[in-house]
Amino acid sequence: MASHRLLVRAGYVRQLGSGIYSLLPLGYRATSRVEQVIREEIDRIGGQEMEMPVVHPAELWKESGRYFKIGPELVRFKDRTGRDMVLAMTHEEIVASLLRDIVRSYRQLPMIVYHFQTKFRDEPRARGGLLRVREFVMKDSYSCDVDQAGLDRAYQAHFEAYERIFKRLGVDAIPVGADVGIMGGSLAHEFMALNDFGEDTLVLCESCDYAANQQIAPAAKPEPSTEQPRPLEEVATPGTTTIATLTKHLGIGAERTAKAAFFVTGDGRLVTAIVRGDHDVNETKLFNAAKAVGGLRPARVEEIRAAGMEPGYGSPIGAHDTVVLVDAIAAASPNLVAGANREGFHYRNVNVGRDFTPDQVVDLVNARAGDPCPTCGKPLVLRKGIEVGNIFKLGTDFSVAAGATFLGEDGQAHPIVMGSYGIGLGRALACVVEAHHDDKGIIWPAEVAPYAAHLVSIGGAREARVTEVAERLHQVAFDAGREILYDDRDESPGVKFTDAELLGMPTILTVSPRSLNAGGVEVKDRATGEAMTRSIAEVEAMLIGSEAVPA
Ligand SMILES: [Zn+2]
Repeated sequence: MASHRLLVRAGYVRQLGSGIYSLLPLGYRATSRVEQVIREEIDRIGGQEMEMPVVHPAELWKESGRYFKIGPELVRFKDRTGRDMVLAMTHEEIVASLLRDIVRSYRQLPMIVYHFQTKFRDEPRARGGLLRVREFVMKDSYSCDVDQAGLDRAYQAHFEAYERIFKRLGVDAIPVGADVGIMGGSLAHEFMALNDFGEDTLVLCESCDYAANQQIAPAAKPEPSTEQPRPLEEVATPGTTTIATLTKHLGIGAERTAKAAFFVTGDGRLVTAIVRGDHDVNETKLFNAAKAVGGLRPARVEEIRAAGMEPGYGSPIGAHDTVVLVDAIAAASPNLVAGANREGFHYRNVNVGRDFTPDQVVDLVNARAGDPCPTCGKPLVLRKGIEVGNIFKLGTDFSVAAGATFLGEDGQAHPIVMGSYGIGLGRALACVVEAHHDDKGIIWPAEVAPYAAHLVSIGGAREARVTEVAERLHQVAFDAGREILYDDRDESPGVKFTDAELLGMPTILTVSPRSLNAGGVEVKDRATGEAMTRSIAEVEAMLIGSEAVPA
């Protein structure tokens, strides 16, 4: 992705290991600017900044149950005394335990606390760049209220704060309905930056404001069929372990087939998912339907065979010791071709309910482009996006688990109602660059630029007048508390201009013998490329002023 390529080439970040990055000085400055924008907007809605630790005693995560629900993404280890510990993925448990210790009365609520802290998630698919990392700094805030109405207000306040944050960062992020995932709770939104390389698929309606992550967007309702069930019939289908080879062999469409996918839950149950051959299994829906405690992994061949099924030719017909989940569209489609659980053979005319009994018929597939909008019925479109923030209505799961209660006006103990709200700094930074670059490099919006201006001196030590003016401008800016980046290297003008455009400060100030002869300093706007000569006095005034340096 452009953001990754540019941030590495321009020396903002450096990879240390898979999904683990160092922020170099420029990257650190840019990230600090992003952090400050977020801080100001969370402070504005009444957030109180604090800091919670990265390493947690595992007891807290056992109390909430997440120690057992979350798969290997949660890093678990023992300290020297043999106590179970975890590396923080988020801090709901810690906030709940603090609330338990500190909050006694409704008079202490509502409260919003937040911090910027390192998280670690042992992601299976760490990718190049800051988008899917294992270690990252996140702003996470937590709202603590006496009731649902309070949570609704805190959620709405965060929703609006996030809109202001992304606007200030210059990132066009749209809120979409999202899976509550490992957070639990009742409602969640993700803020998504549209991007062709994003790894989330968004289901959007252009006629109304319906927007959801494809993970949760409901698939179209099945069309009822008038076709009568026909007798089951075995057919030889050698070498057809995929839907593509099967449909070619039989000369039928993929919508006339059923495909099976096999997973094992963290607590050891084999789950067989059946969807029509023309659909894809939606793993989030499957995970939720299977109540997949401890995660979900692809089943191994011997696990599938142990349940009486044959990989590549598998179906629930005659199978045992497996949970069978069937997608609603597949269940409503008569006379499908499905595996015969014998290598090289399929059945024709498989009918769900007649030939095998599902444990659950449920929406298991992705919504597709053109499906009717669940709100207005118009055709849906799909776009790719990058998640830059999320907000969750947690409710009382974490406070109940931790015993975090308050005494209400009624004199009774009630659980504190919580919300949780995250923004990853690295992702936000990458999304800024995705939205603000050209083929020469980064173009920082003024709000997050590591430096307001990039001062370039041309001519090196040979040009005493150039050096004197450039040094003075740098000093003037420094004294005014507005540090600018000063390139005083003895490099060719070409190298220095190329680097200045790559690094991307909003304004490039060039002092050269030519600019001095023309009356002062060349002031160039990085975004538009427009340049003009300003007198030294004018540039000094710009550097001292509280405004961004204008071109
Ligand atoms: Zn709509």
